[in-house]
Amino acid sequence: MVLDPATLTVAFILLSSVLGTLLIFSWTLNRRLSALAWWGGAFWLIAVGIGWANLGKGPPGYAVLLLANALGILSYGAIYIGCRVFNGRPAVLLHGGAGVVVWACAFPFIYDSQGYRLILASGLTAAYAALSAWELGRHPLQPLASQRVAVVLLCGLAAFNLLRGMLGVSLTSVPWIDGFARRWSSEMALFLVVFGPTLAFMFLSMTKERLKFEYKQAAHVDDLTGIPNRRAFLQAASALLNRLNDRPASCLLFDLDNFKAINDRYGHAVGDRILGVFASTLSDHLPKGTFGRLGGEEFAAIVPTGARDAAMLAEKIRHAFAEAGKAALGTSEEVTVSIGCATIPRAMADDLLRRADEALYRAKESGRNAVVVA
Ligand code: GH3
Ligand code: MG
Ligand code: MG
Repeated sequence: MVLDPATLTVAFILLSSVLGTLLIFSWTLNRRLSALAWWGGAFWLIAVGIGWANLGKGPPGYAVLLLANALGILSYGAIYIGCRVFNGRPAVLLHGGAGVVVWACAFPFIYDSQGYRLILASGLTAAYAALSAWELGRHPLQPLASQRVAVVLLCGLAAFNLLRGMLGVSLTSVPWIDGFARRWSSEMALFLVVFGPTLAFMFLSMTKERLKFEYKQAAHVDDLTGIPNRRAFLQAASALLNRLNDRPASCLLFDLDNFKAINDRYGHAVGDRILGVFASTLSDHLPKGTFGRLGGEEFAAIVPTGARDAAMLAEKIRHAFAEAGKAALGTSEEVTVSIGCATIPRAMADDLLRRADEALYRAKESGRNAVVVA
């Protein structure tokens, strides 16, 4: 099979510009994802750079070599800025442009040497690819599977550019490897034709996965306190009860006492803060995924213990909240919680909650700030 460099070049340029356009189009649909615009711009820059250097008649001159390679290096810089932006860090233009500045300053001295040009351009692009991998690997905002794949791809790209740069020092005498040392070859074009769409797909996949993560978060996490909301708690409780099977399980139902009065006296903002304090108290005492805010000033937890241990745990939480609440209010006044406990073997979450609610009602009747076991 003979790979025609000119055909591959045209294919690569068309592919890159289409991918760049699609990434930018995806960004216009959700302007919040500005990394897509940076990555889309990167694909356009490389398309223009490669096209400019390779589609003209005859070997490229001084200006074309300088500017076309600058666009290529800038493209890697844009990928790096995109990765920073994706991780919620600021886009610093200097970071993306530093490579081009180095290239432009060094170019007059290395113009004559293809080897030196190869070493410098490959070194700069390898550095940007490695920085991009580091950025996505070191600062993930969320645990996204496709982000980890992108890190592997970018590490591969960094290694590829590094090895390519080393060919500027010494060739290998393996023809298809040495092909990568030429200014432009069918091997290089083929690599980019395969690699470009893979990287673009991963970038799109990362943003899609992030949106899904955020929507899921919004649907399952209580905005005010940051703990699971009613929906998430009930799902987690059912799953936990299924796993426990015959082993005992208890439900704790919490309702802050006279909370309306706290709001009236100290204001809604203080009330909100107290709700946060109670959520933190639960987080300190219970494993993740076993408790949640049912709504208003009501919270619930499912624990894999019998009635006695559940009641002891409830007492601990009641005391801890009394301390933390007092500190948050900053007065001698107490803010307390009443707790209903229910233990039923092989029960459904609904039954446990209903029984715990009856116990909670009795705790309120008994004068509040108390734990009652059903
Ligand atoms: P009890 O001891 O009988 O439970 O009395 P209570 O005042 O706590 O109960 P009630 O049901 O009468 O009032 C609940 C109050 O909780 C009323 C509402 O303003 C307040 N509340 C519900 N959700 C929030 C919230 O998100 N933030 C704040 N600050 N207050 C809330
Ligand atoms: Mg209530
Ligand atoms: Mg209440």
